[in-house]
This record gives sequence, C-alpha cells and structure tokens, in this order.
Amino acid sequence: MEDMARLAVIEQSVRDVDKFNKILYELLQYISHILENPHDNELRTIKSEILKDVLNCDAFKEYLKYVGFKPEGTEVIYPKEQTLNNLRMAQASIERKLCFCYGAVNRQKRVKFSQKKTSLKPTKILTTNNSLLLKIERLFNDVLAYEDEDLQEYAREKIPIVTLQLLALERVRENQKLIKTGELKGLDLPFDIALLMELMSWFKYKFFKWVDQPPCEGCGGQTSFSNILTVTTDKETCRMEVYNCVACPVGAKFVRYNDPRTLLRTRRGRCGEWANCFALICRALGYDTRLIYDTTDHVWCEIFDYDSNTWLHADPCEAKLNAPLLYSHGWGKKLCYVIAVSRDDVQDVTWRYTNDHKAVLSRRKECSEQELLSCILTLREHRQRQVSEPRRRHLAKRTLQELVTLMVEKKPTDYESHGRISGSKQWRSDRGELGPQSPGHSFEFTDPGLCALHYHAATDCYRVLRDGDELRTLPSWAAGVYDHKNIFRKVEHDWKKVYLAREEGEAVGHVSWRVCAGPGLLLSRLRARVATQLYSTGTLTWTLQYDDLPPVPADFDNDDIQRGVTLDRTCRSLILRVELTGGEGDVAWQHAQLCRQPLDGAPPALQISAIVIPRT
Ligand SMILES: [Zn+2]
Repeated sequence: MEDMARLAVIEQSVRDVDKFNKILYELLQYISHILENPHDNELRTIKSEILKDVLNCDAFKEYLKYVGFKPEGTEVIYPKEQTLNNLRMAQASIERKLCFCYGAVNRQKRVKFSQKKTSLKPTKILTTNNSLLLKIERLFNDVLAYEDEDLQEYAREKIPIVTLQLLALERVRENQKLIKTGELKGLDLPFDIALLMELMSWFKYKFFKWVDQPPCEGCGGQTSFSNILTVTTDKETCRMEVYNCVACPVGAKFVRYNDPRTLLRTRRGRCGEWANCFALICRALGYDTRLIYDTTDHVWCEIFDYDSNTWLHADPCEAKLNAPLLYSHGWGKKLCYVIAVSRDDVQDVTWRYTNDHKAVLSRRKECSEQELLSCILTLREHRQRQVSEPRRRHLAKRTLQELVTLMVEKKPTDYESHGRISGSKQWRSDRGELGPQSPGHSFEFTDPGLCALHYHAATDCYRVLRDGDELRTLPSWAAGVYDHKNIFRKVEHDWKKVYLAREEGEAVGHVSWRVCAGPGLLLSRLRARVATQLYSTGTLTWTLQYDDLPPVPADFDNDDIQRGVTLDRTCRSLILRVELTGGEGDVAWQHAQLCRQPLDGAPPALQISAIVIPRT
C-alpha cells in the first residue's frame, strides 16, 4: 500500500473529517519545515500537540513509520540518516489528499497552505535571435501558468478523483497479485504511478477529444481546410483554423487555444492542447511535471517518479507511460531536439527518446551544441535562483542523476517496466471498446438479394447493404463483432491511418464477425475482403465456421484476403475469425494490422458479401 492508500486508512480510523484534515495539515506543515531546513535538527522532532494526540492511533503510527519517522524516548523524530525522498512523497500525497478533502467537503474552508508557494517569475534574459532558443525560453515561461493555485483548484474540480483512486488501488492490487503468482516480475506498482495511469486513461478516453478536421457547424458534414486567421480572446491571441463545408456554406472554425483554463472548458485539440491541459491536471494533483517539446512537431509530458528517482515519459494522446523510444522506433520519427521545461527546471532530454546519439547529433543544426547548453544553463540558473535552497540542492542532484541516465543508449525494450500500462479496462469498456462479451453480434440478412456488410475503420462504423442500398448502420467496431480478445482500434494521427490491432503487450489477439441468413434463406457466393498490413513476422491466421460445424482453417494468404476471396459453399451462417500474432520487439502488436485504411476514408476496410437466396 502506498501513501494515498495509507492516508485513506487513517481517514477511516479517525472518522471525524475535520479532525482528520487538521492532522494532515499539521503533518504537512511539519514535513515542509523539515524539507525546507533539512539541517535544522530541532525541526525534526514532532512537537505539535495535535500530532502527539493522535500517536495512539495505530494507522497513523504505521504511516509515520512507513514515511521513516522513528520513536526516540518519548519523542518521535525524523532521523538525519533517513532519505528526504520519502518526505517529499509524503508531502505530495498529503497535499493532494488535503486538496481533495477541502475541495469535496467544504470549499470555503480551503486552506491556503502556509508553506507559501513562492511565485516564480518568468525569465526574459536570452539575448539571441535564434528561434529554437527563444522558443525554449517562451515555453519555460508558459509552464508557470500551471502554478496558479486557483487554476489548479479549477482543474481538480474536473477530475473524478475518487473513482480514479479506487481504480488505481485496484490496479496496484492486481499488480501485487501477479507478482505473487509469478506472472509478473518486478517491483510493486507505486500508487502514485497507478493513479497517473488511471488519470491518463480517463483523460484520453473520457475527458479530452482529438480534433483533426472539425465537422461542419451547420450540417455536421465533412469539411476541408481553408485558411488560418488570428483571433484575440480576452485571455490571449491565438490561431484559428477555418474549414469549409463540402455541402453547405456554414463550415467550421477551430481555435487553437493556448490558455490551459480555456482548454479545461473546450476539452479538445491536437497534441499541443492535449499536453498543455494534461500537464496542468498533473500539476493540480501535485505531480512534478514537465512539458516536453519536440521540434519535429509533437508535445507530451514527463512525470517525476519518486520511487525510481526518474522522469517518466507520459504521452496523454497515446495514454502511454514510460515508452520513450516510441517515437523514434514505433513512429519512425527523426527526432532532433527534445526539450523539457517545468516550473523550476529545463533540460535537453533528446537522449531519452533516441538511441542513436550520433545520428541525432548530425541532424541538430538549429544552433551549436554549446549555444543550446549555455541557453539551458542560463535559463535554469535564473529560475532556480528563486527557489528555496533545499529545493535547489534537490534539483541539482536530480539533474546529475538524470544526465547519467541520458548518456546511456538504451535498447527499445522497456515498454512496460511498471506493469500493464494501456488504458483502464473500465474506460475502454465504457466506450464500447471491449464490446459485448457473449453472445456476440450477428448481422442477419433477412431478404434475398446481394447483401453486404461493410466496416469503415476511418469512421468506425458498420454499414449493412442490400442491392447497393444502405439498410442500417452500427457505430463502433466492437459493437459489430461476434467475439474478440485483446483487440483495439488504433488511430495513428501522425500517419493518418487507422486499423485494428492487438493490445500492446499481448502476444495473441483475435476477432470474428458473424453473418447469417434470415428464416427460409441461405447465403451463397460468399465473399470476404479485408484490408490488412503485415510487418516483420506479424501473422494473421484465418478460420471459417459454416453453420454449426467446427471451424476450419482458411487457406487464403494476406494478399488473397486483401483482394477478396470467394467461398465455395452455401450456408445459413458464417463466422470469419482471424488471430493476430507475431511481430518483433516492443511494437510487435503493430506488426499485424487489420482493417487498415487512411483516416480520410476510402473503400471499406472490411467487406463480407453474399447472395441471399431462398432455401429450396
Ligand atoms: Zn455543412
């Protein structure tokens, strides 16, 4: 059990909400004093009467012990030899817990933490014309917006924190179980990280929406990009993309807001908006958060993990945690500069996201390496002059440790160093990604004629047709499958492709579709056509099941099924099933793709057709 869970246990045994908050508040003050003055031994002894009173509560005593406090005579102290990291974690958790309590129970009574967060001032010291360096300085200033306490409060109101905490606890327990049974090797999943996973999952699947081309505001139809204008709101000046409707004169506008408060309201955008809003949300929950800027046009976040003492890559668009080589390996990006900015630090983290340092260096032409380094040092020094001495020392130590890890060229294999990472099952099942488990969906053709089932991966929609006329549609791939396991619909915004693949980390996945004839009818001249794409050793294995007979292997290869195959028998029902296996490395799951098509449409990715005839 980690910090938040232990605090919940104390909360339960204290029972009185006000009293519990008072205890937390005292403890927080006390921890903050130690952290700010780690050399002052006086401050290490618990003197608060409120805290002393509660020392007879077992849960509280256990918690103090867990954090690293020790009884000494009649006193309780935080020993000098004890690491301060534990205290930092405790501080973060208590802060978070307090925010939730006050947020939920009594907003008026919300305490402004007296440890007075010094407000950091933006820097404006670079004297260069270099656009990369100026951009870094601007971003370094932009992230200060997340430190606004009212804004953080507003962000917390949007987060279903109780639900997320419960899901995170479940995740921690599941992980512990797997370790116990030997199915998973490694360390316990820290609660903070489990919560972060749930937060990402929620953010991606429930909260924020991706926008490529907004639908027409008049008729809801498709639009095409027209031009970009500049608009000024009461908060900022930003770009506005204008889209024309293909069918009516209305069209659509898409404003690219930068203000994170606005994004909490609009809840949509591309990776810039996603990372911007997610970084705020993480800060609001007390995570030490960086915004990561990649000059080849992507933005994401990093979260500091106090357990492993490392920065974790966190990409909200992908709901992906700790997969830093994703971009250069999974997406084939040629990264040049990847820069991290947080409220009190700036760092060149390119080396975490690449593993061919020589090749990367040869692509870096925006400025000299010396200029970049000196820019980073200047900005960092200026900002860190404003933080407390202990914090500064902590940051210096952290930087050193990070530099060591950045120098190592890693192999792209540590996809899941913190257990299962993909989105929470709950969120996915909510949006239909897990589909009906049993019995599965069947498409029934109830009238004679040329009948067809089409699936369009781009719009994630099925269409049922007879003699060319659309009879009905069914949204979501999962809603129309007969059965599936470990399958999800992958959208690659960068490559503008969409397909079905097995879930990351799963060795095997399968999916099947069932079509059948209505009463008194038969399916004849059955044809199946599926757009597929295989890489490396990725494999698709097809089987067919006619009526109630046992399934038989279908001997069509990948090209056959792409062009379409005709099945040579009549039947009342057919189940077309495919198993996805093989592939290599971290992205093995991507090496067998099904129903692949461009995001902007094109012919159906899956077609099953039959001539439906009366049974004679
Ligand atoms: Zn329109």
